Amino acid sequence: MLGVSSCLAGICCRYDGDHNQIDSLRQLVNEEKALTICPEVLGGLPTPRTPAEIIGGDGFDVWDDVARVVDKTGRDVTDMYKAGAIKAYNEFARLDVTQVILKERSPSCGSQLIYDGTFSGIRKKGVGVATAYFIKQGIQVFSEENWPGEEEINGN
Ligand code: SF4
Repeated sequence: MLGVSSCLAGICCRYDGDHNQIDSLRQLVNEEKALTICPEVLGGLPTPRTPAEIIGGDGFDVWDDVARVVDKTGRDVTDMYKAGAIKAYNEFARLDVTQVILKERSPSCGSQLIYDGTFSGIRKKGVGVATAYFIKQGIQVFSEENWPGEEEINGN
């Protein structure tokens, strides 16, 4: 069983109410080979919601309490991002999920790049809050951009 960001499987859980469906990932879910999770929704945030970015670092820094997640209105949503990451991980652990494919550039799910906290579209290297938590728990994280494919990921 793999884990997949819900929005990559076509679920409309993005901040703007849209999705980022990748057909091959939707197919894995349809075949019950992948579990979908959206850490932001699991954390109690509504859809649609005000976009948020990490200020002061990346997801690892959020868990180290030196960075925060703040939405565009200035509201601190760090606690919800962290709660959603823990809930998502608990789902993975329950189903023995050890590899996940997460949406790149999200403040929750990004694994190579995130936005820089200025809400100006500038990207920087770093991981999202959920991604950092999953990595700390030993989960292997891919994005939709570097996922090698089902056969390669299973070692076939
Ligand atoms: S938190 Fe992750 S799964 Fe949810 S909408 Fe954002 S990128 Fe997609």
